[in-house]
Amino acid sequence: MLKSVSFLWLLALFLGVWAPAQAQESGAGKPPTFIRDAEIEAYLHELAAPIYRAADVDPSSVSILIVQSNVVNAFVAEGMNEFFYTGLLQLTDSPEQLAGVIAHETGHIAGGHLIRGKEEQRNASAEAILGTILAVAAGVASGNGGLAAGGLAGGTQVAMRSFLSFTRSQEASADAAGLSFLDRAGISTRGMAEFFHKLAGQEMLPVDRQEEYVRTHPLTQDRIDAVERHLDASPLKDAKLPDSLYRMHERMKAKLTGYLQPETALLRTTDSDPRLPARYARAIALYRTSKADRALSVTDGLIAEEPKNPFFYELKAQILFDNGHVEDSLRDYKMANKLLPDSALLRQAWGHALLESRDKANLELAIQNLLESNRLEPRIPSTWRFLAAAWGRKAEIKQDPQFEAMATYALAEEAASQGNDKGAAQLADRAMKGLKKGSASWLRAQDIKLAVAPEDKR
Ligand SMILES: [Zn+2]
Repeated sequence: MLKSVSFLWLLALFLGVWAPAQAQESGAGKPPTFIRDAEIEAYLHELAAPIYRAADVDPSSVSILIVQSNVVNAFVAEGMNEFFYTGLLQLTDSPEQLAGVIAHETGHIAGGHLIRGKEEQRNASAEAILGTILAVAAGVASGNGGLAAGGLAGGTQVAMRSFLSFTRSQEASADAAGLSFLDRAGISTRGMAEFFHKLAGQEMLPVDRQEEYVRTHPLTQDRIDAVERHLDASPLKDAKLPDSLYRMHERMKAKLTGYLQPETALLRTTDSDPRLPARYARAIALYRTSKADRALSVTDGLIAEEPKNPFFYELKAQILFDNGHVEDSLRDYKMANKLLPDSALLRQAWGHALLESRDKANLELAIQNLLESNRLEPRIPSTWRFLAAAWGRKAEIKQDPQFEAMATYALAEEAASQGNDKGAAQLADRAMKGLKKGSASWLRAQDIKLAVAPEDKR
């Protein structure tokens, strides 16, 4: 799985606990799956930035995470993490509708209605933090306060849902705040009203048929009326977001369908469909259903149409890489990175491909790219794992134990970013013995070690 990194890079958590509602949706017992995708994340950040700024929230301080699930939901959790489920992203028809959801969630952030986990995890990635939050929620639901083993009974699902959901007054205040953020950002509130209408009527359904979003964010007629009244009086009523955001929205949906429902995408389109998003969905769906040659030919058509789009080169590289043409993928990864130099995910994908290539001369460039990926986003566990492999190989080639210690240090970072503090501290301790005292890696290893030690003494 981890070979298919860059394009839609799936990161699974192995904490062993997951919300039962999710377990039912995505197959019982399966860990939550996060989608990492440079293109979709760039779109969500671009759409959200003016809303965050309107709320006096620094856009760079918010992590946007995409959870792979047919469930329609979105929520905010401690540490300014906004989670969007693919089911919700796919349900929105326009950037204004998605902006409405983001504004409402940002209203929860501004109102301080954050779902909090048990303890602060300084070195953990947002994915790991979500795992902890859901584990705590499951513990609350099972009544034992600790980690619950899977398979919770029906009654406890209700308890857990109430842990994760907001009160009606919190909902009303998040709406009011969200509406004012949209106004200040110059975005029509029509999208929020439209999205509410999509969900309206859900309250009348039996609980097990409601969308999760309606359960965690209880929707009432009062809320719908308030949003409608605001829209009617708004001078921005008919304002539209730029075409570029509409294009990104369409491509996001195309990508998600191609990736998550490839059979559907193939039924809906032909190789010569004139619509670009349709061909994009098709190229991805062909690749996902092991029809690499056809996927490549559709992707070449996309590149010919938009030769400066980094994500089309990324897709081509991904198809080549996953089908064993590692050396061939390098040129396209290089091009994608040239066109978009500051994407941690594209850097990582290129670094990983360089690492997997047979040419020893690529090792240094692989390490450079992985370090650059790390600088851009420091807590991606797999970047640390690839760095560990790269430094391990360098230790063999150079016969230098210093690089062996670097590899161990990278494994400590990987464990820390997964929320495994104890394992991280042990690895950091071992790495420090081989690292040059006072070096940057040695200091960082010491930080990781100390992050756990004080708690042990308490
Ligand atoms: Zn809400």
